[in-house]
Amino acid sequence: MMVLREQDVFRGPLVLVNREHPLRAFDSDLAMLPWGGGIRMERRAAALLAVCVRAVGGEQGIVPVSGWRSREEQAQIWNDSMGSHGEVFTRSYVAPPDCSEHQTGLAIDLAQAAEDIDFIRPDFPDSGVCGAFRRRAARCGFIERYREEKRPLTGIAAEPWHFRYVGAPHASLIEDNGLCLEEYAAFLRRGNQTCRLENGKEAFVRYVPCEGKKTEIPVPEGCWQLSGDNDGGFILTVWR
Ligand SMILES: [Zn+2]
Repeated sequence: MMVLREQDVFRGPLVLVNREHPLRAFDSDLAMLPWGGGIRMERRAAALLAVCVRAVGGEQGIVPVSGWRSREEQAQIWNDSMGSHGEVFTRSYVAPPDCSEHQTGLAIDLAQAAEDIDFIRPDFPDSGVCGAFRRRAARCGFIERYREEKRPLTGIAAEPWHFRYVGAPHASLIEDNGLCLEEYAAFLRRGNQTCRLENGKEAFVRYVPCEGKKTEIPVPEGCWQLSGDNDGGFILTVWR
């Protein structure tokens, strides 16, 4: 048997981070993006972002604007935006400290290359290499995190420039079923999911509720990954 600890709920690539689910005890293994000048992300997210950008020939046309942020940086952005844009704008586009996915290193803001890039709301259109990236993102494990129609659930206005790494089977399941990350754990609780992958393999996805200090599950056969959802459970992925 495998023993999952209560604090493991707060960790992993599928954690939900928003105002109701602030970040707790999250350790990021960070790596520098191979282009774009010194922006860091969680190591696996950085590697797959680079794969996705390269696949659409976007090294010149796509600029990473903001990746991993420390708590202090997030607080600074919040305070600066409150000062210069006011509360309505700030609450629509900026998350308070500990409520931003950027503090996990799993989120990236991307801009279309231009001389003058807006740091809070960069332009990332549906055309050209930006559009090609958007259409390919889920296959590389990224979801477009904030869509206008999900605003009542996310609390954040449409942000076509903000992508969140969740991993390939999850990104496809989320996008193909028209979900946002706030809805994903509940979706999995209704039934296990199978996702056919491009390499011919299948990924099985299952929700495991946290049963307190220790949750025991049988060790899965094959290649697997376990992530907390930061909302009382775990998501188990098994590739076969
Ligand atoms: Zn962002």
